[in-house]
Amino acid sequence: MNTTSFANLKLPETAIANLTQLGYETMTPIQSQSLPYVLEGRDLIAQAQTGSGKTAAFGIGMLEKLNPRSFAVQGLVLCPTRELATQVANELRRLARYLDNIKIVSISGGQPMGPQIGSLEHGAHIVVGTPGRLCDHLRKGTLVLDRLNTLVLDEADRMLDMGFEDDISAIIATTPDTRQTLLFSATYPELIEAISARYQREPVRVSVEAQHDDTSIQQFAWPCEVGNKAEAIHALLQKYQPDAAVIFCNTRQACNDLATEMKSVGLRALVLHGDMDQLDRDQVLIQFSNGSFRYLLATDVAARGLDIDTVDMVINADLPQDPAIYTHRIGRTGRAGRQGIALSLYTEKDSFRLQRIDELQRQPVKRMPSLPTVNPQKELAPATMATLCIAGGRKEKLRPGDILGALTVAGGLDATSIGKINITNFKSFVAVERSISTQALEQLREGKIKGRQFKVRRL
Ligand code: AMP
Repeated sequence: MNTTSFANLKLPETAIANLTQLGYETMTPIQSQSLPYVLEGRDLIAQAQTGSGKTAAFGIGMLEKLNPRSFAVQGLVLCPTRELATQVANELRRLARYLDNIKIVSISGGQPMGPQIGSLEHGAHIVVGTPGRLCDHLRKGTLVLDRLNTLVLDEADRMLDMGFEDDISAIIATTPDTRQTLLFSATYPELIEAISARYQREPVRVSVEAQHDDTSIQQFAWPCEVGNKAEAIHALLQKYQPDAAVIFCNTRQACNDLATEMKSVGLRALVLHGDMDQLDRDQVLIQFSNGSFRYLLATDVAARGLDIDTVDMVINADLPQDPAIYTHRIGRTGRAGRQGIALSLYTEKDSFRLQRIDELQRQPVKRMPSLPTVNPQKELAPATMATLCIAGGRKEKLRPGDILGALTVAGGLDATSIGKINITNFKSFVAVERSISTQALEQLREGKIKGRQFKVRRL
């Protein structure tokens, strides 16, 4: 048996079977280094990024300790953003499928208190949320943590950057001293060490190699005038022709402006920013990850915790203030053993930011002499896919097979021209090759899915 097999861990067979069903065959490096200690009950301070499998690294251990018959909150995960909290809660639910009646709730700011109070009242075994809102619930008495077994600080450096230190301390003060504390952070500033010293007992230190070493992500930076960024990005896209690129801006306004400028030269980009509602965000992410758009413009808040593994290029239209954020950003590419490219634009005023990034990475980002120029004759290939949106989803009990069936019935389309199918509560999305999207649209409109006719439109 190899050392990265989950079967080496002291876990019930049902837990292992569930992992196999999820397609987790071997442990990721962070999992093989952490899980033996986590399962022993040790405290842990781990350096790991989103995409490393860190959720399972703490989740599997947290679930093992759970007593389903007790309705007290036994596991708590603190996350910097709602997006990450939702993602962590979803992953924990998948990991918990072998256990009956485990309730996992996500409690974050920016959403109404009422329903959160309701779901906490019904007894949650695990709570995942953002520190500010969790403090509100503690103060109101709607959240009680006196029976907590496992506390996780996820993306701790980011939570501190966002000013959550006092909230985190206030939360920890209400938990038992006997708890197990697992701290995950991409970077180790002094404050993290201080938090660890204050709240952890002889933690085991685990660090996995940053996923993006020189071999998986190539990094280049170009000097650029503030007012010239859209043109610079156009020229870089012409030069590198990525299949899928995430372009980061520091503000929502900058994202919107860049989107408008790109559109004026025929480059279609999706925009993702922090205060879009969940349905819009889902729709944007579905269209990007199914290949209907090549470019996604995002702010950091919006992109936290995003998990799209087909991104072959990250572009920093603006350099972030915090070098750790640069590391997070470029980690969206070069995943799962693929090659990635990270391009950055820097203005004269940004030079020191680039230096701080070099220092943090202990290797310099390659400075390029001057930007390529836009070739007005050269058109960039549009995205290969288009998304059709069907006005029916999980509530109508639609499944991917139903939609595939409706598209490929006798005389219909070839299954090879159909891409990802995503089903949400009320809508379904199917990606089809752009060249046959009109035919696919007509076929779905005229035919039936699961014996019913649905409204269908092309996004
Ligand atoms: P995370 O870093 O926790 O956000 O996980 C990144 C992705 O990797 C998630 O989509 C997980 O479902 C997936 N994942 C986690 N552990 C494994 C594993 N051992 N094998 C395959 N996929 C995994």
